Amino acid sequence: MKVLLINIKELLQVRDEAPLMVAGAAMKTLPSLKNAWLLLEEGLISDYGTMDSVPDVGFSKTINCAGKIVLPTWCDSHTHIVYAGNREQEFVDRINGLTYQEIAEKGGGILNSATKLQETPEDILLKESAQRLEEMIQMGTGAVEIKSGYGLTPEAEMKMLRVAKKLGERYPIPIKTTFLGAHAVPLAYKNNKKGYIDLICNEMLPKIAEEGLANYIDVFCEEGYFSVADTERILSEGKKYQLIPKIHVNQFNVIGGVAAGVKYNALSVDHLELLSDEDIAVLQSSHTMPVALPACSFFLSIPYTPGRKIIDAGLPLAVATDFNPGSSPTGNMNFVVAAACIKMKLTPEEAINAATLNGAYAMGISETHGSITRGKVANIMITQEVPSYGFLPYSFGKHYIEQVILNGKVL
Ligand SMILES: [Zn+2]
Repeated sequence: MKVLLINIKELLQVRDEAPLMVAGAAMKTLPSLKNAWLLLEEGLISDYGTMDSVPDVGFSKTINCAGKIVLPTWCDSHTHIVYAGNREQEFVDRINGLTYQEIAEKGGGILNSATKLQETPEDILLKESAQRLEEMIQMGTGAVEIKSGYGLTPEAEMKMLRVAKKLGERYPIPIKTTFLGAHAVPLAYKNNKKGYIDLICNEMLPKIAEEGLANYIDVFCEEGYFSVADTERILSEGKKYQLIPKIHVNQFNVIGGVAAGVKYNALSVDHLELLSDEDIAVLQSSHTMPVALPACSFFLSIPYTPGRKIIDAGLPLAVATDFNPGSSPTGNMNFVVAAACIKMKLTPEEAINAATLNGAYAMGISETHGSITRGKVANIMITQEVPSYGFLPYSFGKHYIEQVILNGKVL
């Protein structure tokens, strides 16, 4: 099956030789072709060029993209889309003055989601999660990472990861799974955190590894959740099963989680709403991708990750939705890109790099996704007619994604 896109107003993120990620000043460059064509063949990006060289062969499908922009689909490297029920009551509680931590302390938050998830049958969970994934795809997302962490028992954590894996089998989209047993200490272990970490290390991890349910391992390294020492113990245990870390750090406090992640060769360190100069120095000597989650900052009214400072320090940056019921109930990467520009002062070029190529890196798929490069998977999107790509983040709250193509197939 061949698909030829012609008269593309601007084809974005075109890289003959794609690096695995872009960092620092290089993020300001978003290579593009104006008045372009793009050929997709056998599910892959086959070739591209400008309209003066459009190939004249018999194609099974031609799409006229006059006035429209074409770019790789978003790579959402941090989500929790497998969950049961919503938490809009806590949303109202917060409006009425309670903090995220206070809600957690009175049994809300992650533990609230855990109770609901444990009670929800796997098929219902799959149905609800599939609905979220379909919405994300319609908004231009073409790769998703999904975490466990609302189960907090061996059975429920495995249920979440099985559902995430099934989504990857049912939808034409790469899904990477992350084991986040250390998301919160469940009530049953309220006064015995060590006992819960023993359960993670001695029971959950071996079972999850045996069934091949996870690609990555995650810990919520934060005051009141898991300390740096707890984090290091879990990451070193995960290493025995070749699980690479992608961890939650520096959301509310700087406690040394960035250094712990880098020490264990984390693929990414995520959140970073607070970031010390020491953290930046540690990241500068690593291959770890910093990941910002601006929709979470927006929803919780907490500081935004200092993305400008991170990029100006020569580091790469990725952005993701953190789609979850408590702190970021959205899967809209278009909003994330807009918020990165509006609130973190990224340029549109930087934000689009952060949401495509660098997002792909943060989920270990940048060799095959995240740019318009010959041989990469044909996961691309076509906008409506727009004046320029800067119009996409400028028009926050609305998205202009008209068509999504996954594996070369028009959805
Ligand atoms: Zn998260």
